Amino acid sequence: MKIIYLFCFMLLASTEFATAQTTTNANTSVAPTPPPTRIRRNMEQLDPNAPTSKYDYHDAFAPFFYTKNGNEYRAATGEPGPKYWQNRADYILDVKLNEQTNEIGGTEILSYTNNSPLKLNFIWMQLDQNLFKKDSRGSAIVPLNGSRNGGRGQDFDAGYKIKSVKILSGVKNEKATPIEYLIEDTRMQLFLPKELAANGGNIKIQIEYSFISPDYGSDRMGIYKAKNGKVFTVAQWFPRVAVFDDIIGWNTVPYTGPGEFYLEYGDLDFSITTPNSMIVVGSGELLNASEVYTAEQLKRWSAAAASDKTVIIRSAQEVTDPNSRPKNKTELKWHFKIKNARDAAWAASSSFIIDAAKINLPSGKKGIAISAYPLESNGDSAWGRSTEYVKSSIEYYSNKWYEYPYPAATAVAGTPGGMEYPGIVFCGARARQGGLWGVNDHEFGHTWFPMIVGSNERLYGWMDEGFNTFINSLSSANFNNGEYKSKYPQDKNRIGAMYTAPGLEPMLTYVDNYKERNNGTLSYSKPGEGLTLLREVILGEDRFDRALRTYIKRWAYKHPTPDDFFHTIENVAGESLQWFWRGWFVNNWRLDVSVRTVKYNDSTDYAKGAIITIDNLEKMAMPVILEVKTVSGKIDRIKLPVEIWQRNVAWSFNYPCSEEIESVSYDPDKVLPDYNPANNIWKRNK
Ligand SMILES: [Zn+2]
Repeated sequence: MKIIYLFCFMLLASTEFATAQTTTNANTSVAPTPPPTRIRRNMEQLDPNAPTSKYDYHDAFAPFFYTKNGNEYRAATGEPGPKYWQNRADYILDVKLNEQTNEIGGTEILSYTNNSPLKLNFIWMQLDQNLFKKDSRGSAIVPLNGSRNGGRGQDFDAGYKIKSVKILSGVKNEKATPIEYLIEDTRMQLFLPKELAANGGNIKIQIEYSFISPDYGSDRMGIYKAKNGKVFTVAQWFPRVAVFDDIIGWNTVPYTGPGEFYLEYGDLDFSITTPNSMIVVGSGELLNASEVYTAEQLKRWSAAAASDKTVIIRSAQEVTDPNSRPKNKTELKWHFKIKNARDAAWAASSSFIIDAAKINLPSGKKGIAISAYPLESNGDSAWGRSTEYVKSSIEYYSNKWYEYPYPAATAVAGTPGGMEYPGIVFCGARARQGGLWGVNDHEFGHTWFPMIVGSNERLYGWMDEGFNTFINSLSSANFNNGEYKSKYPQDKNRIGAMYTAPGLEPMLTYVDNYKERNNGTLSYSKPGEGLTLLREVILGEDRFDRALRTYIKRWAYKHPTPDDFFHTIENVAGESLQWFWRGWFVNNWRLDVSVRTVKYNDSTDYAKGAIITIDNLEKMAMPVILEVKTVSGKIDRIKLPVEIWQRNVAWSFNYPCSEEIESVSYDPDKVLPDYNPANNIWKRNK
């Protein structure tokens, strides 16, 4: 989802220095690191001018970062092991929307396949709509100053009404046997009369249910009151099976608002019945377009599917024209299907303007980008360009990381600020220009994290929001020759000060385990910046991009954990990065390096070189970038690998200058998260 104060347009810092950390640029006159004699090391420590330091190289580089070894389920390389398993959930859903009462109800058939090596006596389902009940845990934890989570205190008949739960059997599912169940907050436990076999056992469960949509559904669904009819953005709309995995078994952490979702993959076939006046858009492919659109609109759909420019399917003028809907019908059933997805969502409104354009995918396949928005959101400074944005995002991410897997990509203007689902996103109806680009791009970026790479959002928001924030920075720089690219280079020193401010919780924790005000930093910006640092400073673009691409490919449609990510990046890039995970992800450590002194080997002859000493003052270690300027204006860059901090709190090295040094600057381009730039520059006494 979108965090409002998210830094959408992270500008890439110069990648000029993003080479492997042990490489020295042949063009610079950098001396090889001098032989580290015992005397010189003692000098650093015995210097009465040595500052006090919080840095402890053992803390930063200690072994045993990983608390467990790889196994046959999850390999030490970070890939799924030979015995990796995951359960499967296929759904057939048939519901009806009541436009007046906001009620959605019908029947779900879950076909659940137990690929685990364990037999199951019960199944846990997720009843997310129960969050909006007054007595839910999520309602109880809303603080006095309010929250974006929950239902904002709307007083209505909230939550799921479960009418029946039955097991279907027989060749054609003709036999339906009611079973016992228990509901506890946002979870429902189904008790199976006969245990479900391991290694592929399948069960079909039919649930009859209904709920009333909240107006504001925790900023993830709800109802937008547009002039020409309500816009329903519908999600968390059917009981979904909880994930049973090899990490914690049943994932039953309740839906209290902050943590998003963790879901099984499968095919979802869903039908939505609405009044004839409404248009429905949904995840995946619309299977019965000829029944729900007019002949003229079908022609326009065909034109759009072949057009790189946006084609209007239903114009602003046509919204109130009854001829823009099929005649002689009071209700229509809209039939969608999405394959190999972890969820499905849809939106319905009488007020929709619809437009679309072709998406070109790297394999040669074509998709279609669609936008659905009310009159209030129309115009070239707003949603009139949405389809152009969607097309660009999907094409860019597909080329860069992994091909977009669904036939369509639909952006809907509605009440959520920005929320992602497979093949469909809901973004603020009032979003405009760069704001709309940013939110559309962000929500479709979620196709890769967590729709393709199905991490556990309920626990680890940074694995989808943070990774997505990172890929968004590249996409924004790419769109329309940088139309919405930030004009100013980012000052990573300032960012480092913000992201490592004392009092911030560590990033590697559960979303519900930090203050709501810190969510933007800990789920989005800080992990996003972590990937940028890996790419631009630590590994370089080549090695990082290959490693991230490998992570996506390995875990596409699967459930990676943080360790699987860390292991994959380390194994593919060929670098132990535990010091970085420890400083940036696991702890809220700060970086502060200072330039202490420049001392000439012979004060009467500068050409005999100088000893430069730098100090590591805080808990974090990073590779070092220095700029040396001599009195005649000659500028030189020096890179030192992170290994200098492996057993040193301060580091001195010989610099073979030919004349007096004017200044030595640490991190001259501000690409490191050094929170205290005040001590970064040494200048000669004049
Ligand atoms: Zn997001």
